[in-house]
Amino acid sequence: MRWTQALIPTLKEAPAEAEILSHKLLLRAGLLRKLASGVYTFLPLGLRALRKVEQIVREEMDRAGALEILMPALQPPEIWQQSGRYETARDVLYKVRDNSKREWVLGPTHEEVVTTLAAGELGSYRLLPKNFYQIQVKFRDEIRPRFGLMRAREFIMKDAYSFDTTDEGAMASYRKMYDAYSRIFERCGLKTFPVEADTGVIGGSHSHEFMVPAETGENDVVYCEACGYAANIEKATSGIPRTAARELGAAVEKFPTPGVVTIAALSKAPHAVPANRQIKTLVYLADSKPMLVLIRGDDQLNETKLMARTGAAQVRPADVANPADLAHFHALGAMPGSLGAVAKVPADWPVLADERLRGANDMTTGANEDGFHFRHVSLERDIRVTHWHDLRTVTAGEPCAKCAKALKIRRAIEVGHVFKLGTKYSEKLGALFVDVDGARKPCVMGCYGIGVTRTLQAVIEQCNDADGIIWPLAVAPYAVCLTPLVVAPDSAVMQLAEKIYAALTAAGVDVILDDRDERPGVKFKDADLVGFPIRVGLGEKSLAKGEVELKPRGGAITFVKAEEAVAAVLKALGR
Ligand code: ATP
Ligand code: MG
Repeated sequence: MRWTQALIPTLKEAPAEAEILSHKLLLRAGLLRKLASGVYTFLPLGLRALRKVEQIVREEMDRAGALEILMPALQPPEIWQQSGRYETARDVLYKVRDNSKREWVLGPTHEEVVTTLAAGELGSYRLLPKNFYQIQVKFRDEIRPRFGLMRAREFIMKDAYSFDTTDEGAMASYRKMYDAYSRIFERCGLKTFPVEADTGVIGGSHSHEFMVPAETGENDVVYCEACGYAANIEKATSGIPRTAARELGAAVEKFPTPGVVTIAALSKAPHAVPANRQIKTLVYLADSKPMLVLIRGDDQLNETKLMARTGAAQVRPADVANPADLAHFHALGAMPGSLGAVAKVPADWPVLADERLRGANDMTTGANEDGFHFRHVSLERDIRVTHWHDLRTVTAGEPCAKCAKALKIRRAIEVGHVFKLGTKYSEKLGALFVDVDGARKPCVMGCYGIGVTRTLQAVIEQCNDADGIIWPLAVAPYAVCLTPLVVAPDSAVMQLAEKIYAALTAAGVDVILDDRDERPGVKFKDADLVGFPIRVGLGEKSLAKGEVELKPRGGAITFVKAEEAVAAVLKALGR
C-alpha cells in the first residue's frame, strides 16, 4: 500500500472525547472514528489490525475443534422470553420495531439463538459433542459507554458455545477453550492472566476471565503472588479470621444513640464501639422481596456475591428516597442508621449474614427504633439468621485462603470469559438429545466469549510509548513501513524504495510505502505514532554510503547494506 493512496488521518492532538491512552492512540493514529457515543467506524488501518486479531482467534478456535457459524444479530424476542432473559437482561437489550410494529431484539449475546439451533440439530448423542463459534457484532445498551472500544454499544465478539452429553465432557470442552484463549492472547502479543470469576446462580468454580493488567481496567482482581491464586473481586475470598468470640455475657441491652446513624459515628465517643464490633444491617430487595443483610461494621457488602447467593435476577438496596421502598423501613420500625435484626423483623424476611459474623457475640447493632442501639448482641442467641454466606468484599493485605500470604489487588481489563453453563439454557430452550440408553437429556453447555474489539484496544493500552503504538508483529496493520526521504520518482532513493517495496510485497510482507512529499520529521513521527513494527529509512546521505536504516519500533537504528535490505527485513520479521 502507498501512503498517498491510503487513508491514515493521523492527529497531533487527541479529541477531547478520549479519556484513556489507548483510545487517544486509536484516534490519533487514524485507526478509528466515532459516529456516536459507543459507536465507531474502523478506518482502513484499524480494520487491518482487527482482521488480524480475528484471524488469530479463528485459527485457534478451528484448531480447538470448534465450528464456525454465523448467527443473526436480529433476534425474535420470544426466545429471550423463553430463557427468562427478556426480563433479567432488559437493561442491556436493544429492542427495535419493524414497520408492522413487530418487536425484535438486537443480540447482546447468542445463548438463546445457539441453543435454539442445537434444539433442532443436535438431537442424538451421536452428534455430540459440538462447539459452535462465530465472530460477530453485538449490541448492548451499556449505561456508560466509554473508553472507545473498551465499552461500546456495538462491538465485535467471538462467542463460542459447547454442547456435551455429560458433565465431564463439558469440563473437557471448557479446558480446550481455556487453553485456546491462552494461546490467542499470547499470539496477539497481549499479556493476560486468568482469574476465577463469578458464576452467578450456577455456582461452582468453572468460570474464568482473562484479564489484562491495566490501571484503566474496570475490574479489580485479587491475587496472591506466593501461590498464584487470582480471582475477580466479585468472587474472591480470603482467609481472614472470623470475629473474635467474647464471653457471651449479659443479655441484650438497649441504649440511646441520638443522632448516631453511621458506623463511624458510633465508633467515636461517647459510645466508642469499634467498627469491628458493630453489625451493619442493610435492607435489600431481591426480585422485589425484602431481606436483611448483615455485614460486620468494618466490612463492605459485595453485591455480586449477594446476587449469586440469592439467585435473584435483580438485587438492589432499598432506598429511603423511593416512596415504594419506605414501607420496608416502616415494617422494621426505623430508618437506616438505626436498623438491626434483633427485634421487629417480619417473620417472612430472610436474614442473610456474612460468614465473618458467625459465632460473634457482644456486638452492637441498631435497635429498629430511631435513636437507639442494642449492645451485647450474640448472632446465634439473638438474631434469626436464615442463611450464612460469604458476602463481604476482600481488601488488600488480607491473608490468602490457600497460603496465608498477603493478598494484593490490581485493576484489569476483562478481554475474555469462559463459563461452564450446565443445563440452564438447554432445559429452557429444549436442547435435548437422545442418549445411548434412549433417554432424552438436556445438553451440558459452556459459553466462551472474547471481546475482539476490546482485545485490539487492550493491545494498544499495553503496547505503547510516548511516541505512539508499538504493535506486536502479529496484529500490526502493516509489518513494515518504508520511508524514503526523497520521493521524486526518478531519484535513486525512491527507486530503491520501489524495489524493496516490490520485493517485500512479493514475499508476502504487509508493507506500506510512505510516498508522501513530507518532511522527514513528519514521516518518522507518523510511522512511530501508527506503530509499524519495522521502519526502513531511505535517505540520500546513507544511500551515498550504500546503506539504508532499519529501525524496529521502540528499538535502535541499525544500518544495513542497500542490497541486503530485503533479507534483513525478512530476518527481522522472523522469516
Ligand atoms: P463487562 O463485565 O466488561 O461488562 P461482560 O462480563 O458483560 O463484560 P461477557 O458477556 O462475558 O461480558 O462478554 C464476553 C466479552 O465481550 C467480554 O469478556 C469483553 O471482552 C467483551 N465485552 C463485553 N461487553 C463489551 C462492551 N460493551 N464493549 C466491548 N466489549 C465488550
Ligand atoms: Mg464476562
